[in-house]
Amino acid sequence: MSHRPGSTPFVIVGGGVAGVAAATTLRQEGFGGRVVLVSDEHAMPYRRSPLTKGYLRGESSREDLLIHRREWYRDAGVDLLLGARATRLDRARKVLEVRGHGTFGYDRLVVATGARQQEPTLPGAFVVRTIADADAVRDAARTARDAVVVGAGYAGSEIASSLAWLGLRVTLLGRRSAPVPLLGSSAGAWLASRAARVGIDVRANVGPVAVEGRGPRRTITAGPVTLEADLVVQATGAAPRVRLARDAGLAVADGVLVDTHARSSDPDIAVAGDAARFAGPTTGTHVRVGHEATAAGLGVLAARTLLDRSSGPIDMPRYTTELFGVELQVTGFPDLADEVVELESGDQRALWVYGRDGRLIAAAGVGVAPRLRGS
Ligand SMILES: Cc1cc2nc3c(=O)[nH]c(=O)nc-3n(C[C@H](O)[C@H](O)[C@H](O)COP(=O)(O)OP(=O)(O)OC[C@H]3O[C@@H](n4cnc5c(N)ncnc54)[C@H](O)[C@@H]3O)c2cc1C
Repeated sequence: MSHRPGSTPFVIVGGGVAGVAAATTLRQEGFGGRVVLVSDEHAMPYRRSPLTKGYLRGESSREDLLIHRREWYRDAGVDLLLGARATRLDRARKVLEVRGHGTFGYDRLVVATGARQQEPTLPGAFVVRTIADADAVRDAARTARDAVVVGAGYAGSEIASSLAWLGLRVTLLGRRSAPVPLLGSSAGAWLASRAARVGIDVRANVGPVAVEGRGPRRTITAGPVTLEADLVVQATGAAPRVRLARDAGLAVADGVLVDTHARSSDPDIAVAGDAARFAGPTTGTHVRVGHEATAAGLGVLAARTLLDRSSGPIDMPRYTTELFGVELQVTGFPDLADEVVELESGDQRALWVYGRDGRLIAAAGVGVAPRLRGS
């Protein structure tokens, strides 16, 4: 396909799975104009989900994480700007300012700025958001013996599991009564028993956490709990990166608000991935989903919408996580449920279904593939 390098570009801000899915879709749909993909990271666009799992355990390489190899961008005629932060979006002039790279006029634009860590980092704690973060934890884990992971959602539970698998003594601190609280108390109890089985010491209902000490050994306090560790990892949640969109006057409320087709309050701008809060077709409310397949799906949808191609609304979220020695598959919106039914909770198999206002809205299961497998 020939591309028109001189034309006003289609600009995508953010080189995560959502932004890359949008760029890929533009070419798959036959768009022949210029495409510019702006990423403030220096690494080639990669998937984050292995960072807490196989990559942390040393089972996969940087290459394995790449969404596309470098040649793909060249062959597809996608201008990939790395280490390039978009600093200002002027919607009236349809111009994007990119630090160190000047300004780009655009016809249509996708915001795919993703998410960032929500809370300030505890002193001396590691976080896992980027590939460099995961490398740092992997390095520290080589010499550490005792690890404390702060935050018992998906990411914290995955990190704790990987560190335990690497042979560290791991304590997992959660603010609620069980790991992965969004799945409800019965799934949480089942997961807590799995955590114990792989040797992870789960401390529930802990208060605010403080970390003290210098050098390799740290003291961690959380209410009455006091622990010593030589590796502290914080995984206390993510928040959407919305500053660029908000400063440009787009509607924002815990995510940039978009319709069921990822279009923002500006018809020439779509928003994809973790930065978007979209009108969920099955929930009747706006939702934000921090999962890979949905982020990529929104990227596809955003590109198609701005090309005026018809497409159905975004699918229900589907994701797989590896924690406490099991693979858990989830589909739908368990966090919005007003009722949870445990259908099975055996040793190797478990299944929970979630309802809201009498309608089924989610399911989560272990060992029930292929019935639930989707991503
Ligand atoms: C450690 C970890 C483990 C995960 N595990 C799973 C999992 O097991 N299963 C699952 O389904 N999901 C998982 N997720 C969530 C999943 O990775 C995200 O939903 C997905 O990465 C979102 O993609 P995105 O493209 O919207 O945003 P991101 O991946 O956050 O990418 C956004 C990109 O935009 C860049 N950016 C932001 N602002 C600017 C700007 N102004 N200018 C230029 N660039 C900018 C960011 O630096 C980043 O590179 C995990 C996430 C993390 C962090």
